[in-house]
Amino acid sequence: LIERMRVYGETIFAEMTRLAVETESVNLGQGFPDTDGPRSLLENASRHILEGVNQYPPGPGRPELRRAVSRYRSRHYGLDFDPDSEVYVTVGATAGIAASLLSLVERGDEVIVFEPMYDSYAAMISLAGGERRPVALRRDPESGRFTFDPAELRAAVTPRTRLVMVNTPHNPTGTVFTSAELEEIAAVCREHDLIAVTDEVYEFLTFDDRRHVPLASLPGMRERTLSISSVGKMFAVTAWKTGWVTGPEPLVRAVRTVNQFLTFSANGALQLAIADAIEGEGEWIEAQRLSLQGKRDRLAEGLGDAGFDVNVCEGTYFLMADIRPLGYRDGEDLARALPAAAGVAAVPAKVFYDHQDEGRHLLRFAFCKKDEVLDEAVARLRRWH
Ligand code: PMP
Ligand code: GLN
Repeated sequence: LIERMRVYGETIFAEMTRLAVETESVNLGQGFPDTDGPRSLLENASRHILEGVNQYPPGPGRPELRRAVSRYRSRHYGLDFDPDSEVYVTVGATAGIAASLLSLVERGDEVIVFEPMYDSYAAMISLAGGERRPVALRRDPESGRFTFDPAELRAAVTPRTRLVMVNTPHNPTGTVFTSAELEEIAAVCREHDLIAVTDEVYEFLTFDDRRHVPLASLPGMRERTLSISSVGKMFAVTAWKTGWVTGPEPLVRAVRTVNQFLTFSANGALQLAIADAIEGEGEWIEAQRLSLQGKRDRLAEGLGDAGFDVNVCEGTYFLMADIRPLGYRDGEDLARALPAAAGVAAVPAKVFYDHQDEGRHLLRFAFCKKDEVLDEAVARLRRWH
């Protein structure tokens, strides 16, 4: 293994899911729903396979899906992208993130990232030969939400900064960036001529009337932003590994150049089914949002009863819980012990930080599960402590 990748062992999601299986724990670690998304989507995919959609689709994706993506970005966000040159289908958001960073980060370039950060950002910045400049998201003592200090963001910019990596709604803190927060980021990008790559996989998972705002929709940002989405989160089919990148033609062309040698193309039959679901399953998406909001409240209350200090998130599948009221200090130690001790698996937030002390006392719990599964997890945690 090349030297710069040697620090990356097994991902925390794989490790915790393995531990959960070994101990027959309730798995609130890795974020995947335990109910599959719309019936019509599943049936259409099966039908397309049986009817013979089984050979390579075009590298950039099936035109039906690129058109559907272009239309929903326009409908929801007022952003217009040419389906032929400005929409590009990838093998999940993971490949979109990889292709974006590998095509835009030059050796020695610096990338600003908000920490805690989703694990693939650090690995792909390293693979590209770049360096991370983390800016902390900290829990505001008054509002309880995780946010950043604009002065810290500005101080992270150097002459070598090339790109800002943004994730909203944010995994693992659950923060949905407000327009004001996004404007702080946009202003820095415009002033220093930076590119933004935005991971928007939880775009339809926002709660309490909050709505996702893409950074690309702010003044001067369309021309310098690549936005990444995933059908895994949009339609609760995380195994489908299909996503898309939208952005201005020159940036999408860069992604295309790299991605044609990473995966060449994604699954064609699934793309056709997804195109129909994007057009026809808007109500399902809204119902999913409400259902998840209820699950958030259910698990937040249960974890609170079990003694954790819970941050009620604004979006995503995840709650962050402070373990200190229970007398614990290190979330990584606790996450490794919890499956055997309590029969519940969670993810230690610490692994999402460069400055690990900032997240040492936090566990991330996924609530994208059936109510009875959440209740069982809470019952087990209450028995444990
Ligand atoms: N980004 C974030 C923030 C995620 O939580 C995930 C995991 N779902 C991904 C990217 C990867 O998405 P996909 O499964 O589509 O590759
Ligand atoms: N995105 C999922 C999470 O944050 C995990 C995806 C994965 O296992 N790589 O839990």
